[in-house]
Amino acid sequence: MSGLYIHIPFCERKCSYCAFYSFPRPWKNEDGFFQALEKELQTLPADFLPETVFIGGGTPTALDIQTLAKLFSLLRKFSPAEFSCEANPGTVDRQKLDLLRKSGVNRLSIGVQSFDSRCLETLGRIHSAEEAEAAFRLARAAGFENTGLDLMFGIPGQTVPKLEADLDRALALNPQHISIYNLMYEEGTLLTNLKPQKLDESLERDMYDLIRRRLTVAGFVHYEISNFARPGFECRHNLLYWSGGEYIGVGPAAHSHWKGMRWANTADLDGYCANGPRRAFDEKLDPEAKERETLVMGLRRLAGVDVSAGLWKTLGGNFRTLEKEGLLVIEGNRVRLSEEALFVSDAVFAELV
Ligand code: SF4
Repeated sequence: MSGLYIHIPFCERKCSYCAFYSFPRPWKNEDGFFQALEKELQTLPADFLPETVFIGGGTPTALDIQTLAKLFSLLRKFSPAEFSCEANPGTVDRQKLDLLRKSGVNRLSIGVQSFDSRCLETLGRIHSAEEAEAAFRLARAAGFENTGLDLMFGIPGQTVPKLEADLDRALALNPQHISIYNLMYEEGTLLTNLKPQKLDESLERDMYDLIRRRLTVAGFVHYEISNFARPGFECRHNLLYWSGGEYIGVGPAAHSHWKGMRWANTADLDGYCANGPRRAFDEKLDPEAKERETLVMGLRRLAGVDVSAGLWKTLGGNFRTLEKEGLLVIEGNRVRLSEEALFVSDAVFAELV
């Protein structure tokens, strides 16, 4: 199984916390971007038949309806089983949603982040909580049965009751999928530069525990550190990333892993528009490095990973130590993070790379 990722590097406005490779619209050379994207799509290997397509960014739905139609005309040759698109509530209307449905998109991921107006303001989001709810209902009305919400916790000023209220409002919409990430203070972002009062780590851990409890009681499967789904609605595209699967990313800054090679396009929108994609790196994966990488990515899944005999030889000691510390669970050849380790997974991964 393989997947195609399309990076649309445009947004309505930059959110305060965002370190993704994206620029506010209008962009001086959007036509140049789509011409370069078309050319890059034409260079995909003939035997690349993705079963999942994911349009992310950036904000694909920030494009106007004509540009969106152009984007989908470039993707007509694909017929994936899962076709996802990210959407920002401040940028969707019925016309765009109808176009997405008509173009084959069958999974919508709506970036809400919070339903609390102060938190939305801190994050620099372009929409209100009510607009986010309206966008979700509009997506349902347009026929999106598989619709998810992206939320955040650990936002400056957020409290446990505020988070509970966010979860209540999210659950009231009855989404199929919820991603909920701990806010990261990425270098160079407006939020980081403003040096806000960060939440205590112990409070963030309480929040994470609350999220896990509430969403599992509500019938969601906690299948990846930050991802919850109704049974059968796990994101197949992201599961590819977490299981060492093959994918090709197009657009500036997109990453790929295909036939033992890994590469990334340079994060250079001007260069992409002018000359097409250039590679920031291009490497053949050393089998052991690849196995370790697959292990660490796989451990993000709560189901864990089957470890090969070779890797047991190199990492068996580390596994046993982490097990003694209560951070890893070993069942035969399979290892998985303990419940205790889910919130501190990066520290566990650092012991295994
Ligand atoms: S909408 Fe998403 S990609 Fe765009 S600036 Fe905000 S967080 Fe970043």
